Amino acid sequence: MINVTKTFLPPFAEYTNILKRAWDKSWVTNNGELLIELESKLKTYLGLKNLLFCNNGTIVLQMALKALQIKGEVITTPFSYVATTSAILWENCVPVFVDIDKMNFCIDPSKIEAAITSRTQAILATHVFGYPCDVEAVDGIAKKNGLKVIYDAAHAFGSMLAGRSLLDYGDISTCSFHATKLFHTGEGGCIVANSDELNRQLFLYRQFGHVADDYYSMGINGKNSEFHAAMGLCNLKYIDEIRERRKSQWLYYKMKLQGSGLQMLEPAGHVQYNYAYFPVVFPSEGVLLQSIGALKEKEIIPRRYFYPALNKLPYVDYQLCSIAESVARRVMCLPLFHDLAKEDQDLIIELVLRVLKVKSR
Ligand SMILES: *Cc1c(COP(=O)(O)O)cnc(C)c1O
Repeated sequence: MINVTKTFLPPFAEYTNILKRAWDKSWVTNNGELLIELESKLKTYLGLKNLLFCNNGTIVLQMALKALQIKGEVITTPFSYVATTSAILWENCVPVFVDIDKMNFCIDPSKIEAAITSRTQAILATHVFGYPCDVEAVDGIAKKNGLKVIYDAAHAFGSMLAGRSLLDYGDISTCSFHATKLFHTGEGGCIVANSDELNRQLFLYRQFGHVADDYYSMGINGKNSEFHAAMGLCNLKYIDEIRERRKSQWLYYKMKLQGSGLQMLEPAGHVQYNYAYFPVVFPSEGVLLQSIGALKEKEIIPRRYFYPALNKLPYVDYQLCSIAESVARRVMCLPLFHDLAKEDQDLIIELVLRVLKVKSR
């Protein structure tokens, strides 16, 4: 069976070697030495001043909303993973959906201002599939209207804009290190604050708001363990190699599927893309479903990602976003992972082209 993604695992001995340091100290969580080393290596790798390693990519969104004291309305995208919306709801805020740009699937900045009301306090946008939002436009609108900006950069590890990490934008950016993501620690995530003051607040939030017997603020348990940090330390050594392999698979899909009638991402010149996903948008939902059927017959499981559009969730107030709804009905991500075999990729391409009635080239 071929899944849309496959978790990269380092050689087992490398993992246990690193873990031995935790064993020797009998120290498995609470700012352990592996966690501190991972944070330091991630900051160097991504070129960031602040970064806190946390237990997943959802709690960090909630911590971000809390630290920025967001109440009321949050302008957000209908085309993301459900955690983007549920974090807003969980913090008792109201998601206000703004439709997406049909070329890069990120929030369309030209539609944001019309959605701002006296209750709007923040914009929470996603760098969809690791492709950057129009950060200049979003940040400009936020500044002009006194709004905070949070980027859900769960897909954006290793993506850059003119040499600067996408995690370095907004008041706060968050990332997920879940096992299905490009860089993973099993479960995990991180939060990146642009100011040291915010970073200190988030550091406290992560550990219940207290340091030893001094209680400074409310908090939550956002900590992660030495087991997860060890996985991160192992995987970070392979990340460039993994990305190179995915890049060649990505370019191969792109070359073979060019002219087939599928819409694909077109990274602009100033974007250094991380090759995290290979989304394709079909001409219709019917053809998408036919393709999924043809792939499943050969035990290839692509993913309707993202589907449904978040403005259509049964527990939010529906607001029309016609582009996001149309893309969500017709998009899927093709399998892309470190050891996807060329023959399998060829089979996937052939099956999709057959449904589209396009000759292989
Ligand atoms: C994966 C993901 C999350 C949630 O991350 P977890 O680590 O699974 O909690 C949030 N937002 C987006 C866009 C994601 O893809």
